[in-house]
Amino acid sequence: MNLILMGLPGAGKGTQAEKIVEKYQIPHISTGDMFRSAIKEGTDLGKKAKAFMDQGELVPDEVTIGIVKERLQKPDCEKGFLLDGFPRTIAQAEALENLLKELDSPLDYVLHVDVPQEKLVDRLTGRRVCPECGATYHVLYNPPKVEGKCDNDGADLIQREDDRPETVSKRLEVNIAQQQPLLDFYEDKNYLVNINGDQDINVVFEDVDKQLQTLA
Ligand SMILES: [Zn+2]
Repeated sequence: MNLILMGLPGAGKGTQAEKIVEKYQIPHISTGDMFRSAIKEGTDLGKKAKAFMDQGELVPDEVTIGIVKERLQKPDCEKGFLLDGFPRTIAQAEALENLLKELDSPLDYVLHVDVPQEKLVDRLTGRRVCPECGATYHVLYNPPKVEGKCDNDGADLIQREDDRPETVSKRLEVNIAQQQPLLDFYEDKNYLVNINGDQDINVVFEDVDKQLQTLA
C-alpha cells in the first residue's frame, strides 16, 4: 500500500496519518524525520544534506530523492509507506515517479484531506493561550469554562500573532499555491482521491479506510 497524504494546515492530516499507520502497519514517512535520521545515521546523503542545511541552503532535489530512495528500501516499507510532506514540487513528484518505477513499487493513492479554506481559517484562528500558565484552548474544540478566561487561574486568554486571521490566511495561500499543482499532477495520473475532511475525524477515517479497503 503505497500512499501519499496531502492536505492544508489544519485539515487534520496528522490524525489521519496516525490512524492509517495504526491500522495498516505501514511507516509514516515525513520529510523532516527522513532528513533527521539520514543525518543521524551519517549516510553519505545525510552528510550532503547536512552540509546544505548548515549553510542555510535548501537541500537540492537529487539529494532529497536519494534520501527518499534509501528510506523506501528499508525493511519496514515492505508492506508499503505513507509519505507526508513529500513531494512538494512537480520536479520532486516526477523524480518520485521514476524512483517508484525503478523500485517496481508503484503508487496506489494520493489521499487529499480536503477542507474548505474558510473552515480552515476557523480551525486555525480558534486557538487561545493563557499568558500566565501557558494552557491552550480552542474556541470551538476545547473552550474554557468561562469564555476568554483561563480555567487554571482566570487570566485573560490571548490569541497569538501566528493565529490571527491575516497571518493564517497568508499561510494558507502559500500552502494552496504550493499544493494545487501537485493535486492537478496526481489527478491527471488518476492517483488522486479527495477525502471530505470537513466531518468528524472518525468519519473522515471511515472514508479513508473504505478507499484503502479497495487495495486489500
Ligand atoms: Zn492560565
